[in-house]
Amino acid sequence: EVTIRDLSKSFSHGGRRLPVLRSLNLDIRSGECLVIVGASGSGKTTLLRILAGLETADGGAVAIDGEQVQGVGAERAVIFQEPRLLPWLTVLGNVAFGLEVRGLGKAEAEERARFYTALVGLSEFTSQLSGGMAQRVGIARALTVQPEILLLDEPLGALDAMTKISMQEELARIWNEENVTMVMVTHDLEEAIYLADRVLILPKEKGGAAGLITVDLPRPRERSESHFVRYRE
Ligand code: ATP
Repeated sequence: EVTIRDLSKSFSHGGRRLPVLRSLNLDIRSGECLVIVGASGSGKTTLLRILAGLETADGGAVAIDGEQVQGVGAERAVIFQEPRLLPWLTVLGNVAFGLEVRGLGKAEAEERARFYTALVGLSEFTSQLSGGMAQRVGIARALTVQPEILLLDEPLGALDAMTKISMQEELARIWNEENVTMVMVTHDLEEAIYLADRVLILPKEKGGAAGLITVDLPRPRERSESHFVRYRE
């Protein structure tokens, strides 16, 4: 479980402090999918980056299973909107990249990379990657480190509508199969409701309170295929 207590963050803008997160309190349950929405500038990315350990808060605390978060950690993996692949590496090389850096042996790294490459529905021999395929590589790369928490910052934001829908299904499937906790930022409310157990709405205005909505719908795994029929006609 992730506990967020009294979290605050502000940035300097022209000599003034601009508060972005104001005393946020939240518990993220193990295994849930929490989706963060809110107007542009409401601090979604800032919150995700603090959870990832890429940004430090001004005040308050974030703990995972009671342990204070300090910097990046192997139990958290981040997926950005642009997967930032290394173009000189193959699909498998990109997926395995994080593992070799973490000191896994070459053979083991390759075996694990193969597994996750297949899991996201890619062939390791693909060379011309579309946007959707590149993001699949990014997702596989994040999964290979077998994180407990997957942090996703608008992972499907740059994809065309049709690719987006299939990737939403893919994310739901991966989330079911991998048993990870997912925290995802999106601008797409329909996507939020499709994937989320709970939706966190960050306020833009000073004095506004964050809202939390429980999505009381069957989880993607329990829904029938017909959920998406209207898109596919
Ligand atoms: P968007 O939906 O546009 O991506 P967001 O909700 O993710 O927005 P953030 O990216 O977290 O919002 O930014 C929140 C506010 O903090 C913005 O006003 C932004 O300009 C400011 N901000 C974010 N990072 C920095 C930084 N490194 N330095 C200064 N200001 C920053």
